[in-house]
Amino acid sequence: MSVPLLDLNAQHEPIRKDILAAIERVIDKNSYILGEEVKILEERVAAYCQARCGIGVSSGTDALLVSLMALGLGPDDEVITTPLSFFATAGCITRVGATPVFVDVEPDTLNLDPQKIQAAITPRTRAIVPVHLYGQCADMDPILEIAAEHELVVIEDAAQAIGAEYKDRRRAGSIGNIGCLSFFPSKNLGALGDGGMVVTNDEALADRVRLLRTQGGRPKYYHQAVGGNFRLDTLQASVLNVKLSYLDQWTSMRQQNAMRYEQLFTQYQLTGNDPVHLPPAVYRDSQVPHYHIYNQFIIRVPKRDALREFLKEQKIGAEIYYPVPLHLQECYASLGYVPGDLPQAEKACQENLGIPIYPELTLDQQETVVRAIAEFFDR
Ligand SMILES: *Cc1c(COP(=O)(O)O)cnc(C)c1O
Repeated sequence: MSVPLLDLNAQHEPIRKDILAAIERVIDKNSYILGEEVKILEERVAAYCQARCGIGVSSGTDALLVSLMALGLGPDDEVITTPLSFFATAGCITRVGATPVFVDVEPDTLNLDPQKIQAAITPRTRAIVPVHLYGQCADMDPILEIAAEHELVVIEDAAQAIGAEYKDRRRAGSIGNIGCLSFFPSKNLGALGDGGMVVTNDEALADRVRLLRTQGGRPKYYHQAVGGNFRLDTLQASVLNVKLSYLDQWTSMRQQNAMRYEQLFTQYQLTGNDPVHLPPAVYRDSQVPHYHIYNQFIIRVPKRDALREFLKEQKIGAEIYYPVPLHLQECYASLGYVPGDLPQAEKACQENLGIPIYPELTLDQQETVVRAIAEFFDR
């Protein structure tokens, strides 16, 4: 049995008619740019994230870029972030002219390690960008404490974490000053193309993002600031409005799948950290379950590359998130990092492997995945 890493047909099949009807309504109205579907989605997604304001934008990357622009970050500024993320997290910091400063991750959650932030702060530090990696919130309380002490802004990269919760049920994106979501097709809430959203409780900041989203013109053709075209398409918003109604259901199916993997890996005697290290299901130092939304289910294994090849031969999808930490990317050579600087992130890049976790995955498919991994490790 082949098991794909992601199966969007399975997601779209039951809602295909509703999606097509939503697209047709937009075509009938010819309102492709910032139509009412965008506004409706903004209100719904902001409420979903417990934020006062939502601003639909063209991608998760542009959500980060326009947030950094709205906060006025630029040359001379340093921004602390994690080396273990999708490139856009760091790329946008560089694109506004600021300098990313990478701080190592916690060995278990693989999120930014708050205990290591203090040592990276200089008089030029202006902001912290934690990433809620794979769908699990970074440890935000100590991050917010350090930010308050040094008057730094906190920009959450919640691209993988819509609906993820932290401690007393605060939701990803509205915990810091501003949050960035992605609707890339493989995210938990995925468009049929690119899309993103900025969420925040700060109305002045939201207004600034809205201004920059349309070239900084207000009124049109009178430019108060230099912005860009960062708009979310009405067509994508109309599709997302259909899909948003199913998001809770899909998320609980992902969580169910995660629990089944935990049982299966135990059943096949693959856990206990040897050879397979499973993602943490419960927040460290806390009795409160961390509401992980499992955008990815990342195991850590020795001989990762060989295992991935083995799975590929059996037609089982698996992907590495990520193979190279950001501080060691070629484009950042001038920042002067060398291997060994951020050992936890570097180790994670050697060991991590994402296996299928999408909502519609069946128990049979999950057994196929775990059985193949057991075979590889001779269990
Ligand atoms: C997907 C992702 C982004 C970028 O989102 P796009 O919509 O693809 O531009 C940024 N950060 C993280 C952590 C992501 O996973």
